[in-house]
Amino acid sequence: LLAPDGRIASTIFAEMSGLAQSTGAINLGQGFPDEDGPAEVLDAARRAIADGVNQYPPATGIPALRSAIAQHQKRFYGLSVDPDREVLVTAGATEALAATILALVDEGDEVVTLEPFYDAYGGLIALARGVHKTAALHGPEFQPDHDELRRVVTDRTRVILLNNPHNPTGSVLARETLELIVELAHEHDAIIVTDEVYEHLTFEQPHIPVATLPGARERTVTISSAGKTFSTTGWKIGWLVSTPELVTAILAVKQFLTYVNGAPFQPAIAVGLALPDSFFEGIARTLQAKRDLLSQGLVKAGFQVSRPGGTYFVVADAAPLGYADAATLCRELPALAGVVGVPISAFVHEEHAHSYASLVRFAFCKKTEVLERAAAQLGGL
Ligand code: PMP
Ligand code: GLN
Repeated sequence: LLAPDGRIASTIFAEMSGLAQSTGAINLGQGFPDEDGPAEVLDAARRAIADGVNQYPPATGIPALRSAIAQHQKRFYGLSVDPDREVLVTAGATEALAATILALVDEGDEVVTLEPFYDAYGGLIALARGVHKTAALHGPEFQPDHDELRRVVTDRTRVILLNNPHNPTGSVLARETLELIVELAHEHDAIIVTDEVYEHLTFEQPHIPVATLPGARERTVTISSAGKTFSTTGWKIGWLVSTPELVTAILAVKQFLTYVNGAPFQPAIAVGLALPDSFFEGIARTLQAKRDLLSQGLVKAGFQVSRPGGTYFVVADAAPLGYADAATLCRELPALAGVVGVPISAFVHEEHAHSYASLVRFAFCKKTEVLERAAAQLGGL
């Protein structure tokens, strides 16, 4: 967790947002939207504060939000969830991940993730003193090799930690891959922890929650967050859904992390989760148009671009432009083009960085005019 010189290393997102701030460059690095989410949700939070919903909520989350989470699982995925025993509201998906990993992983237990992986995964596995194993995602589709998955999941594997749709590559896992993961979890008695914070940000294909696959539900912890769906990343309302036994074990850790959070935001997110289908379809459609806009700009600028099936990230290969090292390019990009991106090498183990050396992640959850400006500036590279 420490930089080689012993200082606490800041996350790549903090570093790149700092760079955007100090240079005035367009921040396509850290993934957060630059527009507010639905007015109904914002109004509900204002009302809750005015109505005095400002003290500690219950440890597992307010009943209205737990019910809304259960109903959302039923409406979109046909899953029956007991809001009293199978749902836990957390301080963002980050706390859900932290409490789950700390609850399930003992020193020396192996945790398998895909690689590249969201940066917090590496940190959390290290905090639990687990051993981090990875299965590579192979471009341009960024899918894992099934034989490699079979090799990396063993009887030492305690947790298979998935992220689908996937940050940073934007890829969406194929149903056959999810089925294989469930099969491997059974074979090796592992728990599946699945980070589905981008569940509503999918484009061509609908999202498939792992928990909907046969045999998965009883060994799966499903994690999501209001931040992405309702453009409220700063509210830090997340949740997890699992079996009563796993929820109880995770709550035992969670109570000593934050205990609770976000009292007035919880009823507001309950309102959001009950919004009509048209809202959820609308956010995906809007974002798809932004994906296409930025992708076209990047192609025109000379990058080779992947086609993300979900999330708000696109991976661009800078090699055709003559940049072999994206980490160096990202440091220079504010001066060269007035844009900030994040090198994919920040999401991989150092020994594998060479396989991803020329790749940059750009976020497209920004206003259309901002993306147009970024695309025009990158065109000058
Ligand atoms: N998981 C993934 C894959 C993410 O991209 C993010 C944040 N962007 C998180 C977890 C953290 O979510 P939260 O802000 O709700 O803690
Ligand atoms: N999840 C966001 C991203 O991937 C940022 C989260 C953070 O800043 N830690 O860009």
